[in-house]
Amino acid sequence: MPEVAERTLTCLVCPQGCELRAAVQGDRIVSLEGHECARGEQYAAEELFRPLRVLTTTVRLQSEHVPRLPVKTSAPVPRERLRACMAAARKRVVRPPVWCGEVVARDLAGTGAELVATRTVGPYPAPPNDGRQRRAERP
Ligand code: SF4
Repeated sequence: MPEVAERTLTCLVCPQGCELRAAVQGDRIVSLEGHECARGEQYAAEELFRPLRVLTTTVRLQSEHVPRLPVKTSAPVPRERLRACMAAARKRVVRPPVWCGEVVARDLAGTGAELVATRTVGPYPAPPNDGRQRRAERP
């Protein structure tokens, strides 16, 4: 029978941030303390046995003016797949224009998650839109 291991973690589900103390035996939680609601139990089970993370990163843009496009996954991906997701994102090159919310890659590293732009980058050369420049040109 596997030994019981003590684990502590902070619940991130709400701003209360309860400190959870779990006794883990194999792949099950035998006791949990410190949680103030049932969502803490669910969080502990996921975080201990199937941790998920939203990946935020940038991908290359085919643009002389804006070199990188900020992106994030459309859903949390398994933590152990983050490196594979990063490697897939590194290979991606996006051609503007691209709109905030637009999918720039599907099924990232086989996780089923999409990679979504978090910024709009228009076609270039863009019309002059530098307020300081326009103000400087005024008499
Ligand atoms: S256990 Fe409940 S009250 Fe505590 S941080 Fe998690 S969600 Fe919030």
